[in-house]
Formats: sequence, C-alpha cells, structure tokens
Amino acid sequence: MENASTKWGFFQGNEEPKAASTLTVRDVLATIMENLDGADQRPTIPLGHGDPSAFPCFRTTLVAEDAIVESVKSAKFNCYAPAGGILPARRSVADHLSKDLPYKLSADDVFLTVGANHAIEVIITALARPGANILLPRPGYPLYEARADFSNLEVRHFDLLPEKGWEVDLDAVTALADDRTVAIAIINPGNPCGNVFRYEHLQKVAETARKLGILVIADEVYGHLSFGSNPFVPMGVFGSIAPVLTLGTISKRWIVPGWRLGWIAITDPNGILRKSGVVKSIQSYICITADPPTLIQGAVPQILEKTAEGFFSKTVNLLREAADKCYDGINEIPCITCPNKPEGSMSAMVKLNLALLEGIDNDMDFSFKLAKEESVIVLPGVAVGLKNWLRITFAIEPAALEDGLGRIKAFCRRHAKKD
Ligand SMILES: *Cc1c(COP(=O)(O)O)cnc(C)c1O
Repeated sequence: MENASTKWGFFQGNEEPKAASTLTVRDVLATIMENLDGADQRPTIPLGHGDPSAFPCFRTTLVAEDAIVESVKSAKFNCYAPAGGILPARRSVADHLSKDLPYKLSADDVFLTVGANHAIEVIITALARPGANILLPRPGYPLYEARADFSNLEVRHFDLLPEKGWEVDLDAVTALADDRTVAIAIINPGNPCGNVFRYEHLQKVAETARKLGILVIADEVYGHLSFGSNPFVPMGVFGSIAPVLTLGTISKRWIVPGWRLGWIAITDPNGILRKSGVVKSIQSYICITADPPTLIQGAVPQILEKTAEGFFSKTVNLLREAADKCYDGINEIPCITCPNKPEGSMSAMVKLNLALLEGIDNDMDFSFKLAKEESVIVLPGVAVGLKNWLRITFAIEPAALEDGLGRIKAFCRRHAKKD
C-alpha cells in the first residue's frame, strides 16, 4: 500500500531529479506551432528552424546519397564501430580539416559524434566539474546552456555586439573569467546572427583565451557557408595560441541533418589538451555514450572526399541570394530592423521596435500572433538569449521566403501604432 509518509531514497533531502530548466528551440517552436490557425488555406512558412532539407533546391549531392547506398550494399558496416568512430572516417575528417590548417591532424585527433549536438554533450560533460564555469555567447545556441545546466557547469554570458557586426565583447570576456573558468565557446559562421568573424578578431579571441588560460570551443557547424566579404577562417588556425576543440558536422554543409554525423577535432598543435587530461576525459566519455551508425560512418570518406566544388558553390549562392532577399525585405518593414546583413550560416537576428506596434507585448507575443494570423513561424529572440529580437532563418525556397516576408509586412502594417 502507498503510504503518504513513505520517503523514497531518490528524493532524500530537497534534491529533486534533474530536469533541463532552460528553454530549447524545439520547445519554443512547438509551442508557437500550436498557435497556427487550422483554417488558413495558405501553406505555413517555416522561418523558425534551420533545416532546409525539405526544400527541393537544397537537396544534398548525389555523391552523398550514393555513398550511403554503397555503404549499405558493401555489408562492411553492419558491425558495431569502435568508440570515437571507424579509422577511415576519422582519418578522412582529419584530412578534410587539415586542408585549412597550418599543421596536420591525425585520425587520433578526431572523434565522431551523433551530429554536432552530441559533440556539445560530450565536450560539456567532459569539461564540467564542481565550481567550474564556461563562457557562452549571447545570443547563442541554447543547447550549450541546457547541457551545462544538466552537468551543473556554471554559465557566464558575454555579449555579441550588433553595432560591431556581432563581434565578441572581449572586454566582457576578460571581466567574466576567473580561475575556475574552463572554456569560451564561439560559433562561426554565427548562429543565430549570420555573421562571419574576421581573421583578426579570431586571433584576438585566441589571445584572450591564452591570457586567461582557457580553451576555445569553436562551433563550426556552418564552416564554409560564408557568402559575404569575410572568408571563413577555422579557429584551429590559432590553435598554437590557445588550444581549440573544433565541432563540425555534415548536417549543414551537406544539408543532411537527419544523418546524424558530426565530430570533435582536437586542434591543438602544442598538445596542451592531452597534457591537461581534457582529451582523456573526452575519450572516456566517448566510451560510454552513443555512436553514429556505422553505415553512415562508412560513407564519410566518400562524402568528404568526392563532393564536387559545384555543389558547395550552388548552396552558398542560394544562401547568399536568400540572405539578400531577407535583409532587403526586412528593412522595408518599419517595425523590424536587421542591423547587419547576414554573411554566413542560415539565419539573421532582427530587432523588434515595439514602440511602433499596437497590442504586441514582446517577441514571444509577436511570434504567437504572427503564427496565428499569417501562418509564418519565426523564433522569438528569448529562445536564443535576446529578448525582443527575432531569429529568422532564410534557408528556404526563394518563393516561400518572399511569401513569408510579404506576410510579415502585412502583419506589421495591421498592427502598426496609428498616430
Ligand atoms: C545545427 C547546429 C548544431 C547541431 O548540429 P547537428 O550536427 O545537426 O547536431 C550545433 N551548433 C549549432 C550552432 C548549430 O546551428
């Protein structure tokens, strides 16, 4: 019989079982979708999340599809894989990344993960220890906060500065850090801001990390997806200034997020992360966590080595045109502004001018009402750390983007303050 006075062991003291306390993009988008008006005959325009794979113009390369088919048919990849991934796949990631670095990575420097999201889990889990803290960008990618929270790793936020093209506020970084700080994370090309850091700025980030004695986590899931004046420079280029853990994936550049293949690369030519035990910690966690399916791993060498330059340039051109269309369209609408033209990744941050709007309380309210009235989904900025901003993902079919921008314009006009 259940007895009210029973004290179960796992509830002793005031401690409750852990639950993620931070907002996730998935949760916020799911809540907004509930506001869609089922009677609207128009198609829903998804400007909320970065997964263009559903659009025919963003279909992946045949090379990647063939690589998977061959991997299956070979019957060589039906087995369990070793922790960290099969050697040919790790070697091909190492070679792929080494092309852009002043030193050469080996297969031992690479761990395959179940997409970059899993790479974030592995790194945060490996770095967490009582009393330690990590420096994260605001706005940012909220999975970092959620993972840190789950591992009891304290988060301290530094701002990305819109007036400086979303560069890192390096003075704030120095002021935030103390002797319990383990790492600073940067995302380049940037999600959610669509910025691409200049070479000189990345060098300053590395120098700041060196001064503070911390490592750099470089989230480069949008690596090479840059289409403005700043070329993409991998953070690993500065690995001899401060040690870098580089995160990558095939999800974005090859537009196959469902294939769940990412990696962590130790871009640290001085071997500091090995000496300090960080690599060992990553290795030991990799041994007790999930692996990407072996059949996908089997396809990695072909995917990385055989994809034609033409596929990449086609994607980058599509993104450039979409970014231009998005920037121009937004800036035609009085109540929202995009301070910086996106030059990389798939999204932009847009500021709401609430003073020009009637009956809209904040970014969440804006997104709910926009979904309800216009069947357009955008992500409220609070979900990525910036209240009263919106994140707009422009990586969709051009006609749908135009349609979506038109509906946002109609919505803003309808809700404009009359004076
Ligand atoms: C999409 C994304 C990831 C996750 O990539 P997956 O390989 O799909 O897990 C990680 N970081 C950022 C900044 C992203 O935008």
